[in-house]
Amino acid sequence: MENRHLCELHLHLDGSLRPESVWEMAQEQGIILPVSSLEEVKLQMKVPEDCQTLEEYLERFELPLMVLQTEEALERVAFELVEDLAREGLDYAEIRFAPQLSVVGGLNQNQVTEAAIRGIKRGMEQYPSIQVGLILCCMRGDKNEELNLQTIEAARTYLGDIVCAIDIAGAEGLYPTEWFQRVFDKANEYQLPLTIHAGEAAGPESMWTALSYGTKRIGHGVHAIEDPELIQKLIDENVTLEVCVTSNFHTKVAASIVEHPIRQLFDAGVHVTVNSDNRTASNTTLKEEIQILKDQLHFTDEEIKKMQEYAWEAKFLKERK
Ligand SMILES: [Zn+2]
Repeated sequence: MENRHLCELHLHLDGSLRPESVWEMAQEQGIILPVSSLEEVKLQMKVPEDCQTLEEYLERFELPLMVLQTEEALERVAFELVEDLAREGLDYAEIRFAPQLSVVGGLNQNQVTEAAIRGIKRGMEQYPSIQVGLILCCMRGDKNEELNLQTIEAARTYLGDIVCAIDIAGAEGLYPTEWFQRVFDKANEYQLPLTIHAGEAAGPESMWTALSYGTKRIGHGVHAIEDPELIQKLIDENVTLEVCVTSNFHTKVAASIVEHPIRQLFDAGVHVTVNSDNRTASNTTLKEEIQILKDQLHFTDEEIKKMQEYAWEAKFLKERK
């Protein structure tokens, strides 16, 4: 029964592209990639076995972002990801991406967002078994506040039309969550639903700050394990963690899969959910992540079902009419 209501809350569009599409779109767009074959594209888009940091992990996004600067490309990859998820058997997914990373070719963030929305809608028309929402990510940085505020405006404009929430992604160790008060004040002024990457490359303090912005969902959040008071707050306030075990292993948030704190957090009563983060970069899928939890962290079918229930409760979109 574990596959009923198969639901994924944390999945990046640009980390989940088909390498074949990146290769093809580069040719179509006349882009000279720093690699010269499809095989090299595949290697570059997947995390290396000896990946040591989140920053190194984030280099997997360089090739995808080179080709994601046109509306056609954005619509195409959004459609293809919906297709991949539907074929995997998911009933519900929230895809996220940062519109501000696709404005290099002259598009504005509204055009970028609309292109992704079109692709998702086309995907859902072709695969009506799946419902998909779109989360717009702001980016951690020290020179992009204006771009982040434009992302908030785009989310306000399209909220309810596939777009369902705001997030912030990027190098948490370099750009602390507390720097983004103004961005989240704006999001709260517009009453945008929130999820925030926190407690991944930074410690519990980053999660405390995220909670102070009013979020009820946190991307990763695995460093909560160091702070019993924080764990209690997550439980008391019904906060959902979007945990991505393989990704955390790649970025060395966890030294190994078996040492990942998801088991302790789940046992403590925190609403943890299972997610793939990046299908291509992490070379995984939701079903594979579920299998890893069963094989290596001894989660039972009942416990997996419980996590899927947590995900179902925390999803941003309402039931389809
Ligand atoms: Zn993520």
